[in-house]
Amino acid sequence: MKNSTLAALIAVGTLGVASLGYVFYFDYKRRNDPSFRRKLKREKKKAQKAKQEVEKITQAQREISIDRALTRALEDPLPTDVAQKEKMFLESVSLGESLFASGETKYEDAAVHFYRALKVYPDPIELITIYQKTIPGPVLTIIMGMLARDVKRRQESYYDTFPDQSMQVKAAGLPKGADKSDPKFHMGLVAAKDFAVGDIIYVEKPETSQLTPALKDAEYCEFCLKPLEGIEHPAACEKCSLFKYCSAACKDTAYDEYHRFLCPGSEDASTASSAKELCQSWAEGKELAPLMIAKFFGHMITTEQKRQLAGQESDYTLWERTEHTTTLLLPGKPTDQAHQVRLAALIGQQVPGLEEFMNEERYLSMKGRILRNAIAVRSGGEAAGVAANAASEDYVRSPADAGVTGAALYLVSSYLTHSCAPNAEPSFLDHDHVLTLKATRPIQAGEEITMSYIAVGDRPTPARQAELMEKFRLHCTCPLCEPVTE
Ligand SMILES: [Zn+2]
Ligand SMILES: [Zn+2]
Ligand SMILES: [Zn+2]
Repeated sequence: MKNSTLAALIAVGTLGVASLGYVFYFDYKRRNDPSFRRKLKREKKKAQKAKQEVEKITQAQREISIDRALTRALEDPLPTDVAQKEKMFLESVSLGESLFASGETKYEDAAVHFYRALKVYPDPIELITIYQKTIPGPVLTIIMGMLARDVKRRQESYYDTFPDQSMQVKAAGLPKGADKSDPKFHMGLVAAKDFAVGDIIYVEKPETSQLTPALKDAEYCEFCLKPLEGIEHPAACEKCSLFKYCSAACKDTAYDEYHRFLCPGSEDASTASSAKELCQSWAEGKELAPLMIAKFFGHMITTEQKRQLAGQESDYTLWERTEHTTTLLLPGKPTDQAHQVRLAALIGQQVPGLEEFMNEERYLSMKGRILRNAIAVRSGGEAAGVAANAASEDYVRSPADAGVTGAALYLVSSYLTHSCAPNAEPSFLDHDHVLTLKATRPIQAGEEITMSYIAVGDRPTPARQAELMEKFRLHCTCPLCEPVTE
C-alpha cells in the first residue's frame, strides 16, 4: 500500500519536472528562433483547423443521426387508444433498455424506441426527468436532439397547411417596413390571386368573441353578437336565464364550447359564484379580455376533447395555433392575477392537469394576443353610437371609430398587418361576429393584404403614430407615414 502510494507520488513528481523542462525548452526556442515561431504558428493553425473539421464532422454526423432517428421514430403511426398506448410504451422502453445495453452501435436504435415511448406518455416532462436519471448521456443527447428537432419540424411545417387554401391567402415572411432590404421579417398575409375592389377575400369565424360592456343593457346574442331586435324566437340558457341567444343553434354551441364551464346557474356553488364574479367584472366595464380568455380556454378544451376523440393527434392544437400569432409583452397587473386564479379554478379544476396549464404566464400571453390581434365587431343594432373601446380599458383593432359591438379573435385575420392606407377592410355582413374581409383597392396575387388597426380619417401622422405605439407598440412605416422620396 505504502509503496504504491509512494510510487505514484514519485511518478507525478518526475512527470512534473519533465514537463516543466519541456516548457522551458519550448519557451527558449520560441523567443529566440523566428523560423520556429512561424512554424509554430502554422502548426497551431493547422491543429486548430483539424480540430474544427473533426468537430464539424461529428456535429454534422450527430445532426444526421438525430434527423434519421426522428424520422424512424415517427415512421409508424402512434396508437391513439389508451390500452394500445400503454402496451406500446412498455414494449418501447424495454426494447430501448436492451438496445443501449448492447453498446454504442445500438444507441441510435435505443433512442428511437425511447422517443416513441415519450410520444405516447401522458406527461412527457415527467418522463424526461426519469430518462435523465436512468439513460446514459450519449443516448439522452440523441433523445433531446430529437425532441428539439420534432418541435422545429412541427413549427416549420405549420404554414404548409395554414391558412386553409379556401381562404385565398397565404402566410409569408415579409420585410419589415418600407425598406425592402431590411433583413427584419414579420409574418403577414399575401393574396393567392388577384382581387378587384369590393371582392370578398375570405370569410372567417372567430375563436372567441365578447360584447362590449357599453351594451350590457342592450339585447344581443351572447354567442354571435347579433342584435336580438326583430328576432322572433330568441333562446336563453335554461340554467342561468341570464344569457340570451339569437337561435337555439347559438345557445347550444355556446353551451357546448364554453358556457358549460362559465354558467352562473351551475349546480356547483363555487362555479356559480366565480362565474357571477366574472360577469360582474365585465358589466362594471373595466376589461373585455377576462371573459374572452375564459371563453377561449373553454373553447380550446372542447376542441381538444373532440380532436382526441376523432384521433386527429397529428393536427395542431388550438393553443399551438394561437401561439403562432404575435403577442404584446404585458406586465402583470394585480387584477390579472385575480382573473387567472379564478379561471384556473373555474375551468382548470374540471379537467385534470389544466389548472397548472392555466398559469399566470399563459394567461398574460393570451391577454397579450387578444390586445394585439382582436378585431372590433360591428354587428349593428344599438351600437351605432358606441365608440371603439368605449367603457373598456382594453383596446382592439378598429378601423372605424363608431358602431363597435364588441371584439373577436380570429386566427387568420390576426396576421393582417396594419397600414394607414390599407387594401382590405373587415365587414360583418350577417350582423354577427363572422368576419368578411373585402378588398378596398385592387390587390395583385403575391401582394401583402393589410387592414387599418385604427380610425385613420384625416388625422395627422403624429396622432396616428402615437395611437399605434400606445395600443399596439407599433411603429408604422406605411406609405402615408413614410412617403417614399426619390
Ligand atoms: Zn347568435
Ligand atoms: Zn347559463
Ligand atoms: Zn401608417
